[in-house]
Amino acid sequence: PAEADEEALRGGRLLVLTGPAGVGKGTVEIALRKKHPEIWVSVSATTRDPRPGEVNGVNYWFMSEEEFAAKEKAGEFLETALVHGLAHYGTPLKPLEDHMAVGTPTILEIDLQGARRVKEKAKELGLEVVTVFIAPPSFDELVRRLTGRGTETEEQRKRRLETAKVELAAESEFDVTIVNENVEEAADQLWSLIAKEYGKEA
Ligand code: 5GP
Repeated sequence: PAEADEEALRGGRLLVLTGPAGVGKGTVEIALRKKHPEIWVSVSATTRDPRPGEVNGVNYWFMSEEEFAAKEKAGEFLETALVHGLAHYGTPLKPLEDHMAVGTPTILEIDLQGARRVKEKAKELGLEVVTVFIAPPSFDELVRRLTGRGTETEEQRKRRLETAKVELAAESEFDVTIVNENVEEAADQLWSLIAKEYGKEA
């Protein structure tokens, strides 16, 4: 495989979607992609198990802890994070470079730890990053959404709730907030931002 080189990112431009778990970042991202197929959303690596319907290479690159650790050691990720203390997630560097190199609007959908790390790296690498915090309409609504997923154990859910409280407080660290009250509207707001960043017609 071709060498991933962080230096290749210099001067590039990246939009980072972040926010509390369960806020619907993934849903907003899917709606955005449907309306504007010309964008590219990074496919993360993860060590968690696939949920029903998830496809390897589409939703995530699913891999073992061993494989993930080896890739991390080899410098193949822009950032990595242990999410909810349960599984590792990482943004593969090479596909990111390839898409940014040809000027494709490039989007990461990652947790807050990852978004913070990308912000730091952006400074080091001279990468232009806009960080977007996707917020729920209210904390109660976030709790409802977290509960509604129903694919987790009680212990996993509790852990996610605790994380959500802390994560909601992080809003001010990021450049722009978009409230996900309505998925289509949130996706449209996001597109306006991308259009502005990339000089496209909104
Ligand atoms: P889920 O397991 O529900 O798909 O995702 C759990 C959390 O991991 C979400 O907040 C999601 O944004 C985050 N996530 C997904 N991919 C990455 C990644 O590559 N890096 C980081 N830091 N977080 C990620």
